[in-house]
Amino acid sequence: QEIVEIMDIPFNKLTENELLQQHLYPRINANKRTYIVTANPEIVMQTRVDAIYKKSVKSADYIIPDGAGIVKASKILGNPIEERVTGFDLMFKLLSYAEKHNLSCYFLGAQQEANDRAVSRVRNSYPGIRIAGSHHGYFNNDEEIAKQVAAAKPDLIFVAMGFPRQENFIAAHLHLFEKGVFMGVGGVFDILAG
Ligand code: UDP
Repeated sequence: QEIVEIMDIPFNKLTENELLQQHLYPRINANKRTYIVTANPEIVMQTRVDAIYKKSVKSADYIIPDGAGIVKASKILGNPIEERVTGFDLMFKLLSYAEKHNLSCYFLGAQQEANDRAVSRVRNSYPGIRIAGSHHGYFNNDEEIAKQVAAAKPDLIFVAMGFPRQENFIAAHLHLFEKGVFMGVGGVFDILAG
């Protein structure tokens, strides 16, 4: 089976390598729009109490198990996932790929200062990368910001606004984009900002 349902969330049973090599890289090269949720147990629990959020998560193209508890649950259910795939690792693999293939990235989320620092860290670590743009994550004009991001035509869009906000934002505005890999990355910009 390619999917295991845990608490009504259909997880893809892909290793990080399979996800990247067989799915994400080919989709990027074909300019296909792709929305990924790296779901940890907190995210799964939130879908149980928040129907709107559940819809936002379930509309993803890929739901990836970002938690040892989810991997363990899949084993107990007799439909084992091989390994945990963290959003953190996935983001850096995608950044490396972006650097090698001249792809552009957009960084949406966190406080302005953390966002600036995170972007400059990425620039330093991946000198070849193209920065399509960046914006802090404290706004109410969602539609306008989404259009601004879409106008930059990024290949990769990292949304660091925490859950449920980041997945709700992605799910609601994905239709404005022709291409791009979207993923919510929670507090990663704060970590990068140091
Ligand atoms: N954040 C944001 N906009 C918001 C709420 C949060 O950009 O409206 C950012 C916040 O600055 C932080 C990140 O989202 O960088 C993650 O926030 P939090 O730690 O609350 O979420 P979690 O990591 O638990 O998903």
